[in-house]
Parts: sequence; structure tokens; C-alpha cells
Amino acid sequence: QLIDQAFVTLATNDSYAKGAMVLAKSLRSHSTSRKLVALVGPHVSEPFRNVLSKMYDEVHLVDVLDSGDSAHLALMKRPNLGITLTKLHCWTLTHFSKCVFMDADTLVLSNVDDLFEREELSAAPDPGWPDCFNSGVFVFRPSEETYGKLLQFCSNTGSFDGKLYVSCGDQGLLNSFFSNWATADISKHLPFIYNLSSIAIYSYLPAFKQFGSDAKVVHFLGQMKPWNYSYDPETKSVQGGSAEHELLHPNYLLKWWDIFSTSVIPLLK
Ligand code: UDP
Ligand code: MN
Repeated sequence: QLIDQAFVTLATNDSYAKGAMVLAKSLRSHSTSRKLVALVGPHVSEPFRNVLSKMYDEVHLVDVLDSGDSAHLALMKRPNLGITLTKLHCWTLTHFSKCVFMDADTLVLSNVDDLFEREELSAAPDPGWPDCFNSGVFVFRPSEETYGKLLQFCSNTGSFDGKLYVSCGDQGLLNSFFSNWATADISKHLPFIYNLSSIAIYSYLPAFKQFGSDAKVVHFLGQMKPWNYSYDPETKSVQGGSAEHELLHPNYLLKWWDIFSTSVIPLLK
């Protein structure tokens, strides 16, 4: 039963691959009983792919450009969709019955296997617009049929009325596709602690003080990713961000760097 369920992430370059490595370590160190799967793009270098294959049960190379399917077609109409289409590929993992997608910029703080009790499409509210779900963590059922519909939806929307999506990101697309998420079924609303974005910490500090210690997944949403900071292993301190950033989520960033420096860097050498 457990081998047909997996956590899935995506990395299209070496930077996000670093995130994927820390994510895998964090899932394993909290004893997940599920498989770990990484989708990688062709720009992830060979040494990084090798390290990923040590940490993940499966690493799938996804090259949307030579997939020869309708993803390629959609991409010809809207070239900016590259990463989004790569992410949608997770629906093709049909040797699994249920999966949890996690962005490469997420970090697991405790066991989250209970997510598999949820149905497609379960996700947590987006901190910026809570009627939308955040696509950094979501439960889905791989299905060729759904994948086909998503691609269809992807290439239709935009050519339709001449307008492109405001953002070509996967989040806008998935929210439009699973458009009744906000209203249809409350069990598909994951608690916020399964996708705690760093941004929410300073937008509602009292709530963070109250509930933050229950956080199960931290999401380093936004421009500054953990791997963009620099870290001093001697003093175990992180530099390079704005002062407020460091004050507000120092622990999470340190936790990420602690895993990266102790468990990932040695493998990359
Ligand atoms: N991603 C990637 N390469 C990129 C951008 C994004 O592999 O150049 C993947 C990665 O898994 C990432 C996810 O797509 O976590 C969503 O992007 P990101 O986390 O940067 O968006 P945010 O959560 O900040 O909105
Ligand atoms: Mn993210």
C-alpha cells in the first residue's frame, strides 16, 4: 500500500536541485514510509543528478521539448510555460496511486505522511490570496486523463481570448483548473502548518507566535531562496539577507543550512 504512494518534487536547475536534496533529507529524517521521487529538467548537471539518485527512490528526467506529446505543442504556443509544464508532468507518475507534490524550496519539520489521507486536490491557502491554494504543497492522483486535460486547458487558455495568464506559473493554472477548491470541500483545505510560507510570518506575527511551533512544512516562497544566502559553518550563521528576514525566520533558514552543510555538501564533493 505504501509503495504506491510518493512525495514528488521538481528541479530544473542545480540551484533548485540543492533545495530538492535538503527536502529529501528532511523527509527521510522524519521517517517517511513513502517513496521519494524527483523530476529533473535537462539543465540539472550530471553530478547533481547523481546525488539526487542517491537520495531519491526515483529520478525522472523530464524534457518537455522532446516529449513529443501535447506538452510540446502547448510550449510552442507559450514558451514561458516551460517550468509549469515540467511540474504538470507529475500527473504522469501513474505507477503511484496517490502523491504529494512539494516545491524544492520546502523543508519538512516533522512527519507529514498523514497528507496521504487527503484527496486530490488538497492544498493549503495561499498567504497572499487565501481563496487560492498555494501550489507549493498539494495532494494529487497521477492520471493520464487528468494530465491530458491539464495540458489541454493550458494550451486553450490564452489563445481563447488573446490574453495570457497574468502569471504563467503553475499556481495560476492549477487554481483555474481546480477552480472549486475554495468552496467545494473543506477537507481539501490543508492546515496552514503544512505549507507555512516565510511571508506569512511577518504579515501576521501574533498568529505565528501562537501557532508557529506546530509548523510541519516551511516554504521559502519568494525571490530569496535559502541557497542564495551564504553560511558560515564555523559560527553556524546565515548572511546575505535583509535584517528583517533574518530576525523573522532565523531558525528555519539555519535548519535548512544545517542539513545542507552536514548532509548534502559532503555528497557533492
Ligand atoms: N522550479 C524549478 N526551477 C525554476 C523555478 C521553479 O525547478 O527555475 C520548481 C521548484 O520545484 C520550485 C517550484 O518550481 O520550488 C516553484 O517555484 P518557486 O518555489 O520558485 O516559486 P514560489 O514558491 O517562490 O512562488
Ligand atoms: Mn516554492
